[in-house]
Amino acid sequence: MPKYYRKVKYIFIVLILFFVLCVTGTNYAKNNDIEEEKPNNIVNVNNNNSQPDTLTSTPNPPSVEPENKYFTVNVDNEKIYDGELVLVNSNYECKFNGKNIISLINYKNSSYLVADGNVMLNSGNSLDALNSMMETFFQNTGLDNVIISCGFRDIDYQRRLYEREIANLGEEGKKWVAKPGYSEHQTGYTFDLSLLKNGLVEKFDGNGQYNWINENCKYYGYILRYPADKTDITMIYNEEWHFRYVGIPHAIYITENNLCFEEYIDYIKNISIKNPLNVSVSNAFNDNQNHNYQIYYVEASEGTSTNIPLPNEDCNYSISGNNIDGFIVTIDNIV
Ligand SMILES: [Zn+2]
Repeated sequence: MPKYYRKVKYIFIVLILFFVLCVTGTNYAKNNDIEEEKPNNIVNVNNNNSQPDTLTSTPNPPSVEPENKYFTVNVDNEKIYDGELVLVNSNYECKFNGKNIISLINYKNSSYLVADGNVMLNSGNSLDALNSMMETFFQNTGLDNVIISCGFRDIDYQRRLYEREIANLGEEGKKWVAKPGYSEHQTGYTFDLSLLKNGLVEKFDGNGQYNWINENCKYYGYILRYPADKTDITMIYNEEWHFRYVGIPHAIYITENNLCFEEYIDYIKNISIKNPLNVSVSNAFNDNQNHNYQIYYVEASEGTSTNIPLPNEDCNYSISGNNIDGFIVTIDNIV
C-alpha cells in the first residue's frame, strides 16, 4: 500500500474510534442524568400516600404533569412581604406600615377599653375578630375592664421606644423592645392588653377569669405571640399581654401544637398542595358553621411573580406572604 493511503487509513481509523467514544460518552452522561432523577420521582410518589393523586398510578410520571392539574393564580413576588402571616422578628423586617389603619376608639364596641385615640389597628378581619372576641369575653365573665393599650406603631415611634429602652436597660433592653423596622406592632395585626383596676392600669397576665382570652383567642385568629417556653426561639421575653392576629386555622394549629409562630412558619414550608395541612373548626368566630381549612406553602419562583396552584377555580382562598421566601395558601371549605 502506498504511504499516502496508509496514512489516510490510520486517520480514518482514528476518526471512527473518536466517533465511537463520543457516542458512548454521551449515552453514559444521559444514563447518569436518568440515575440522578430517579430518587426525586420516588420521593414524590411516597409523599402522596395520604391523598389520592393521579401521579401515584402513572408508571413513569413526567415531572411537569402535577402542575398542570391545578388552577393557578399569578402573584407578584413583592407580596412575599405582605399579609396576615408575615413573620416579623429580629431577622425579618416588616416591609409595610399597617393595612388600612384606623383609630380603634372609633371602631371598638363597649365591652372593652382603649388607652386613647392614638391606639391604631388594621381594619378588616383582625379588627372584627377582636371586637367579637371581647364581646364574647364580656358575655362570659361580665368583665369590661380590659384595655387595648397599644396597637400599630410606625417605625419612628418604635425607634423612640427602642432608644429609650436601651438608655434605661442597656443591652438588656433589646430583649424587651424590638429594633425599629423589626417590631410586629408595625404590621397592625398586633395589640397589647392591660387592665383597669380601681382606677389604676395594671399588667395583663392572663390569670383568673382573664385566662378566657388566652384560652379562646385562637378561635378568633389570635395567638399569644411570645410564650414563656419559647423565648430561646422568639428572642423576646415572655410577653403575656402581646397578641397577634394570624387567622383562625393557623392560630388553632399553632396553639394546639404548642408552637411559636417561628416554628409554625418553619413547619409549613414542608407542606405542599399535594398533601396539605387540614384543620377542621366548628363555630369559630361564632359563625355556626363547620370549616375545613386546607393550608399549604408555595415557594416563590425566581423572577418577579409566582404561579400559585389552587385545588380549583371556585375555592374560597386567601394568600399571605411569609416575609421570607414564599406564600402560604389557606383554603376555607365550609362543610
Ligand atoms: Zn406588644
